[in-house]
Amino acid sequence: MNSIVIVGGGIAGLQAAHILQNKGLDFILIEKSMSLGGRVQSEEFQGFILDHGFQVLQTAYPEVQRSLQISKWDLSYFQSGAYVLNEGKFKPFLNPLKSPLLFLKNITAAGATIFDFLKLVWIWLKTQGSISPINSDPETTSELISRYRFSEKFQRNFLRPFFAGIFLDDQLSPPASLFFYYMKQFLEGKAALPKNGIGDIALDIASRIPKEKIRIGVFVTEIKGKTLQLNNGETVLFDQLILATDPKQACELLKINFPPQAHFGSKTFYFSMDKKLETPLPLIHLMPLHSSPLLHFSCLSQVNPALAPEGKHLMSATSLQMDLTDKEVAEELARVLDLSPNDFIFLKSFSIPHSLYKLGCFAEVCQKAEKENIMLAGDYTLFPSLQAALSSGRKAAEKIVASSQTD
Ligand SMILES: Cc1cc2nc3c(=O)[nH]c(=O)nc-3n(C[C@H](O)[C@H](O)[C@H](O)COP(=O)(O)OP(=O)(O)OC[C@H]3O[C@@H](n4cnc5c(N)ncnc54)[C@H](O)[C@@H]3O)c2cc1C
Repeated sequence: MNSIVIVGGGIAGLQAAHILQNKGLDFILIEKSMSLGGRVQSEEFQGFILDHGFQVLQTAYPEVQRSLQISKWDLSYFQSGAYVLNEGKFKPFLNPLKSPLLFLKNITAAGATIFDFLKLVWIWLKTQGSISPINSDPETTSELISRYRFSEKFQRNFLRPFFAGIFLDDQLSPPASLFFYYMKQFLEGKAALPKNGIGDIALDIASRIPKEKIRIGVFVTEIKGKTLQLNNGETVLFDQLILATDPKQACELLKINFPPQAHFGSKTFYFSMDKKLETPLPLIHLMPLHSSPLLHFSCLSQVNPALAPEGKHLMSATSLQMDLTDKEVAEELARVLDLSPNDFIFLKSFSIPHSLYKLGCFAEVCQKAEKENIMLAGDYTLFPSLQAALSSGRKAAEKIVASSQTD
């Protein structure tokens, strides 16, 4: 009998396992840490639910629609748009497709001109129908925003911080194709938070895989031919292998140098607050790039009250500066919200140096895996997102299903 092994229990590995399970194929999934989900994890802390880094579930992602049973979930939604800092005050800039009246009421919030709106309408028209996240055009998102000549104010207040938050890259170096792709997701879909945090996504997929097929707390140290060497001295034989680790581990296991500067880091801080914010809408607050240590912040309990204990509010603030301290964040939040730093009671922070991976850096590891007949799964094989993690897991599993049908 063919033995199938999946290495890595992040979203890609779990998705692959779930599809093999559905097709009645036997397998074993090996996950290094003691919990499943990889970069998608939540934990309880002093009655709050904290995600390991600020993350949202885009409901319009095709794989989310196809694979996750989100209609059965208890989801809370961000309002589509953002609070933008314009002339020292946070003002709501809203998605005209979702909140047309509020959009009109706050039409000048982001400092946009009529030409900015016309360009946005043009972009929206361009995103109609199916759109590919990756194409051969070398233009970056930053170059595209400059080429469209959006007004300086609109770029600074909304466009650049919004996309820096998605890419975790303040240079906006990802391709322009991804700008269009995400624009479509945000204009047409919703940004959701599951009831018990983003980790619910992993738990939901894992609940559809029999426990005896999953091994946690053990990891692969070497791949030799058709044998996996584990850290506890065991060896595992395989006929087919899905390597669903992060790309750094994939490179190490396939003996390839991890490309320099191929990752983006982020640090998310959580605070408890007794007071409600004076900005009452469930929106992310964007900070103009390079004029604040923060990229964005949100009162998450305004979106999903279940994330905080009764009578408390949960604030999250994200930065690209890995050495930022909670004191500095509390001072910055106090400055822009006209509050005292003492209003923010620090809970916990999560530093994630390898939050997202740079596109186009992993051709060598993909080629080596193909040569060795190993299937790779993981967001980095496509583009950094839950959509890509789910889709790559599906593709790897479906290749195995197809080969099992021809055996
Ligand atoms: C801070 C942050 C914010 C994000 N925001 C968003 C967002 O808003 N929307 C969105 O769509 N996406 C977002 N993402 C991206 C999304 O989380 C990832 O695309 C997705 O989780 C990647 O899943 P994966 O399975 O490909 O990789 P990973 O989650 O990295 O999983 C790899 C797994 O392999 C395991 N592993 C590694 N080596 C070994 C080994 N040798 N043996 C066994 N196991 C091993 C690891 O422990 C891990 O569990 C964000 C990510 C971060 C960190």
